[in-house]
Amino acid sequence: MTPSATKAKKAKTMTRDQFLKHFEKRLLEERARAVKELGMYSDAFNVSAQDAGAESAYSFHMADQGTDAMEREKAFLFASQEGRFLWHIDQALRRLYRDPDNYGKCMSCHAPLMFERLDALPHARYCIECKQREEDAKR
Ligand SMILES: [Zn+2]
Repeated sequence: MTPSATKAKKAKTMTRDQFLKHFEKRLLEERARAVKELGMYSDAFNVSAQDAGAESAYSFHMADQGTDAMEREKAFLFASQEGRFLWHIDQALRRLYRDPDNYGKCMSCHAPLMFERLDALPHARYCIECKQREEDAKR
């Protein structure tokens, strides 16, 4: 039996209370990880800015200005991606605490999300079908 099959079977025997407790724990885990990663990114950013020695890098490599700006933008985007992830985790925790009856259900079609999907993405708001429809609409 695959580990996922075991998990799915276990999910069926879970009470709603156990279900919510499980995902509260998963969300807090993901949150701690995101916070840690955000800290790591900002540390890496600070170190590289110091190592480069902003002034000397600027005067010696005027031509590299564009690359430098791009590197900074990349670091910023990485950080904000984690920031966005953290925001979604917080939103999911809020939903879980304030509206536990609807946590784990698709916000579009209200179908319960598959346990597997929710376990992998505890901040998921849409079922796979609705998510796919949303992504198709963006194209
Ligand atoms: Zn849906």
